[in-house]
Amino acid sequence: MYNLHTHSLLSDGCLLPSELAVRFAAAGYKAIAITDHVDYCNIESTVRAILNFTKHWPKTSPIKVLPGVELTHLPLEQFKPLANYARRAGIKVIIGHGETPVEPVIIGTNHAALEADIDILAHPGRISDSDVKLAKKRGVFLEITSRSGHCQTNAFVAKLALKFGANLILNLDAHHPNDIISPNKLVKIARLSGLSLKHINVIYQNVSKYLIL
Ligand SMILES: [Zn+2]
Ligand SMILES: [Zn+2]
Repeated sequence: MYNLHTHSLLSDGCLLPSELAVRFAAAGYKAIAITDHVDYCNIESTVRAILNFTKHWPKTSPIKVLPGVELTHLPLEQFKPLANYARRAGIKVIIGHGETPVEPVIIGTNHAALEADIDILAHPGRISDSDVKLAKKRGVFLEITSRSGHCQTNAFVAKLALKFGANLILNLDAHHPNDIISPNKLVKIARLSGLSLKHINVIYQNVSKYLIL
């Protein structure tokens, strides 16, 4: 059980990375990524802080904590350089903040993010067929989310991912203690998005393979 999309007080979350990790462990998760929002103003300091945190997180802890970032509301040409910066610095989980129906995300963001070195396209909204195919080609996970608002297009994303064979991932996008739902509840949300238990098992297997890399 994992959640690779969380925000700490390094961006707009309200918990320290330590408390996020402890609360996720208590909720039954085995791995999380701290993926705070970044753009040119804060990428250096946020990457440094997250790497410093994960480097010191005890290997003996019941929960593994991976360093991540979420490239958020960027001008399209900035996705590639900022993804490259994060990757070279040692960030493991790079998320692109996709075209959610509930925020004025720049049109073309899904495509620009998929062309950059990202691992997950978060809440991609009404993503186009060609971008779902691009996600498959580039091995990028498309996100099914429990976050209110962003979750409106879960069923749409799930259907296209199954149609074109792109990988899905289930995430919480947690900002606050109340966002930390149990793994079972997350599975229920995935079921409501039209995914069968068989599909969900495949999703967990694919993510496990990715987490070992
Ligand atoms: Zn946020
Ligand atoms: Zn997020």
